[in-house]
Amino acid sequence: MKNPLQQAVSPLHALLRAVRRPSARKRLAALQRDVGRLLRIDPVFVARDAHAFHAGASRVQPAPWLAGYEQKLEAQGGRIHLQRFCLCCNETTPMLVDMESSWQGRDGARVLNWRERLICDQCGMNNRQRLVAKLVQQAAAEHERARIYLTEQVTPIFQWVRRLPATDVHGSEYLGDQHRGGDVMDGVRHEDAMNLSYPDASFDLIVSNDVLEHIPDPAKALRECSRVLRPGGVVLATFPFQTGSEATVVRATLGAGGLKHLLPAQFHGNPVSAEGSLVFQDFGWDLLATMRQAGFSDAACEVYMNDAFGHLGVPLLVFRLRK
Ligand SMILES: [Zn+2]
Repeated sequence: MKNPLQQAVSPLHALLRAVRRPSARKRLAALQRDVGRLLRIDPVFVARDAHAFHAGASRVQPAPWLAGYEQKLEAQGGRIHLQRFCLCCNETTPMLVDMESSWQGRDGARVLNWRERLICDQCGMNNRQRLVAKLVQQAAAEHERARIYLTEQVTPIFQWVRRLPATDVHGSEYLGDQHRGGDVMDGVRHEDAMNLSYPDASFDLIVSNDVLEHIPDPAKALRECSRVLRPGGVVLATFPFQTGSEATVVRATLGAGGLKHLLPAQFHGNPVSAEGSLVFQDFGWDLLATMRQAGFSDAACEVYMNDAFGHLGVPLLVFRLRK
């Protein structure tokens, strides 16, 4: 005779045994994929100018428990895993938070870089990468077979997006002046964002992550994006953005006279170049007018923050341009 505890637990054991069968695991994985397609993430608010942004900013304040999180992290050995639901893996996974990519604050203390951490244990994508990948899936679902171009090919986002069903996914990197647009080196395609080799109206969706600030003439790159997009097509773009600045600050120019620095040189990491990428501009709100002049009927800054899906610490900005 089983005791009450054993009686309560044995159906659970039977269920666990059933779920471990390969056929059940397959069904579970398919169910997980379906659930993943049904789940959506939407912006907390959308801004088209500084005024609208500041009016909405109070709705994306970090949770009070995140105050002084750096000290808490240090006390726990510098690494914490937060359990959150990853929209790209469709399950609750541990997400790594540490002080990698942190920067020095005004008081000299290190500041945690929430945008680049919260790395999902399963898919390996960080906070901003998981968000963009999910937004690409959502945008692709509006087409029967979406033609997608990612301006960065050597990234986990590209690897994830290329596995999406019913899509035709293209990617490239800037490999240097010596290459021609469309050249493929070791499986990586070369493209110059200011002079794409793709024909007009080639894509339904263009994805550009942290590239625009490294382009000497961003307006020209935006005109190229508009040219290769189909009517109604969409660009999803991320880049460092100064929400408090109306005007874009030019840090460097590249003209007939060569490279000229107007401000101290600043570099960001680049997966295909050891020396990193020079930052040409610190963008402000006037960029949205530049986007509209480049051929987009709408340019909007979407603001995301979602604790349950592991997008926390700082609001994430994604720019959505519609041709
Ligand atoms: Zn994941």
